Amino acid sequence: MSDAAAIINPQADTAEHFDVLIVGAGISGIDAAYHIQTQYPDRSIVLLETQDSFGGTWHTHKYPGIRSDSDLFTFGYKWKPWTGAPIATAGEIMGYLNEVLDEQDIRRHIRFKHQVKSASWSSDEKLWTLEVTCKDTGESRFFTCSFLWMCQGYYRHDQGYTPEWPGMEDYQGQIVHPQTWPEDLNYKGKNVLVIGSGATAATLVPAMAGDCGHITMLQRSPTYFAPAPNRNDVADMLRELEVPDEWTHEIVRRKILHDQQEVTRRSFEEPEALKAELIGAARQYLGDDFDVETHFTPKYRPWQQRLAFIPDGDLFQGIRSGKASVVTDQIDRFTAKGVLLKSGKKIEADIIVTATGFNLCVLGDIDFTVDGEKVDFADTVTYRGIMFTGVPNLVWVFGYFRASWTLRADLISEFVCRMFKHMDKLGAQVVTPRLRTEDHNMPKLPWIDPDNFNPGYLTRSMHLMPKQGDREPWIFTQDYWKEKDEFPAADLEDGALVYE
Ligand SMILES: Cc1cc2nc3c(=O)[nH]c(=O)nc-3n(C[C@H](O)[C@H](O)[C@H](O)COP(=O)(O)OP(=O)(O)OC[C@H]3O[C@@H](n4cnc5c(N)ncnc54)[C@H](O)[C@@H]3O)c2cc1C
Repeated sequence: MSDAAAIINPQADTAEHFDVLIVGAGISGIDAAYHIQTQYPDRSIVLLETQDSFGGTWHTHKYPGIRSDSDLFTFGYKWKPWTGAPIATAGEIMGYLNEVLDEQDIRRHIRFKHQVKSASWSSDEKLWTLEVTCKDTGESRFFTCSFLWMCQGYYRHDQGYTPEWPGMEDYQGQIVHPQTWPEDLNYKGKNVLVIGSGATAATLVPAMAGDCGHITMLQRSPTYFAPAPNRNDVADMLRELEVPDEWTHEIVRRKILHDQQEVTRRSFEEPEALKAELIGAARQYLGDDFDVETHFTPKYRPWQQRLAFIPDGDLFQGIRSGKASVVTDQIDRFTAKGVLLKSGKKIEADIIVTATGFNLCVLGDIDFTVDGEKVDFADTVTYRGIMFTGVPNLVWVFGYFRASWTLRADLISEFVCRMFKHMDKLGAQVVTPRLRTEDHNMPKLPWIDPDNFNPGYLTRSMHLMPKQGDREPWIFTQDYWKEKDEFPAADLEDGALVYE
């Protein structure tokens, strides 16, 4: 096939070329840039970012109280110590990333307001050509690269997911999605209804409770919450002993990962005991007279959905204080003043916040072609949840849900650098995952096993995602404790990666 890039866009002749092009300047894109820059300083890199700032998730979300729900010792990078409390606000995470950009001199590689629209691979030229829209001017620009590192996250940043409920148009108050929070939203003294009970709702409710008239969290079904003080005793002790930050970071990471592995193991092997502990902790905060059975006893196994950490049990404290309440029921319809529930109960509210999740998106809603053929990622099989059959020189950073996302970003960065080294040794310019003869009849399984992890945004869009197989290296386990050993030892000559 002739040059697909030239067929599609003759203007690609004017393209700027980079060895490695990173899409997205969130925590994963910055990690990728750090690894390339430190391990391959001779390779040219660029990060293209739709928004006007770095930070991704932590720049997009501006709702009250926005914070991490995992600890920053493991959500932060392995190579940059975290020196604060375990759970951090978006502002603190942005501060950390800002320091990284300065310390590692990465900022100069980022092009903000550059949205990648299409990416075409040409086997003749061994190049990706990207068409990019400049958000300022609306003009198209072209970039070429030898290697495409997709760090665009897993959801659409411009709009969150809001289900359609009957009668929404009748509602006379304001409906707000946390992902597009109006900066001037005034909720002082107002009655607020938050629909949802994930990490976002659990953050919003205590953050707003002090200012609202009353705030109600309406959930279809309960979620597990893990209440604990926002401090790490090991870190505090090591800091008191003036142990260097780098050591403290590494020791605390190991301790947290050790403890989390134990929780994950128990969620599979003794789910009932773990469930009883989590519910018992909720009861301690809420008191014996509170109906924990109805509102905080989920039907699923702990860890089948993300376990939301609530610092100092603030959600439970808000409910206990009477400023916030929780209702477990289903919406029948919206009314002029609020919602009517299936039970017949009504909740009136001046503002309704739909904390109902994200729109999952596959590889940044970019149109991909390989030699002129459209790529449907749902037809591909993933190589270790990093690369895709038939798609050359491309990796996607999809992190962990059960452990911190960034642990996987770091593992993938190290894997890619090792793969580059191997390609250099072979003198290869292209690497493409391809099913081996023995893999052809392999069953094609969902991207993430729904029995293992099944939040709504993932199950809604699973059919769009790449598939995994039933054997190495086509499995995507979402298991940090396996992958931390498997990735560094992965056989790069097992026949699944084809080099040219
Ligand atoms: C509110 C919230 C809290 C979270 N808390 C945690 C937590 O505590 N722990 C945890 O492990 N995970 C958490 N997550 C998951 C979180 O998204 C990831 O952990 C992590 O921040 C993802 O980083 P990323 O860089 O991979 O992607 P993102 O943060 O999603 O950044 C991707 C970037 O790519 C850009 N982009 C996308 N498409 C294009 C395109 N076509 N062209 C150019 N640029 C593009 C986007 O604008 C964005 O800036 C949370 C998610 C949310 C929404």
